[in-house]
Amino acid sequence: MFELIVAREIPADIVFENDRIIAFKDIAPKAPVHLLVVPKTAEYSNVAELAEGDPLLLAEIVTTAGDLAAEHSNGEYRLIFNSGATVGQTVFHVHAHVLSGSLDESSLGFQ
Ligand code: AMP
Repeated sequence: MFELIVAREIPADIVFENDRIIAFKDIAPKAPVHLLVVPKTAEYSNVAELAEGDPLLLAEIVTTAGDLAAEHSNGEYRLIFNSGATVGQTVFHVHAHVLSGSLDESSLGFQ
């Protein structure tokens, strides 16, 4: 589904792009800053698959998340990879949630 954003077939508020990664604002933000950092390939459905298949790409996603938190907020952020439907994953194309700004500390999650 996120491949459609990569292909510009559905709109998104894109904040970063290079040859391997795209990042855009979450359509239903759960924090003052809520970005998704996504590998362009749809080959990996969750972070464990990505770590095994392309650890350098995972590292690049983590680095990009930090850079974007500095650019869009104060550089502090919560990084979430939902892995599995029972914990809230709805899009099975691996993506990092970057949450920043004032978060509700009553929960480690965001839903
Ligand atoms: P997850 O529940 O971890 O799979 O996260 C999927 C996220 O994608 C949710 O936070 C959705 O709000 C977000 N989302 C779904 N469709 C879009 C879209 N077209 N543009 C931006 N964010 C989206």
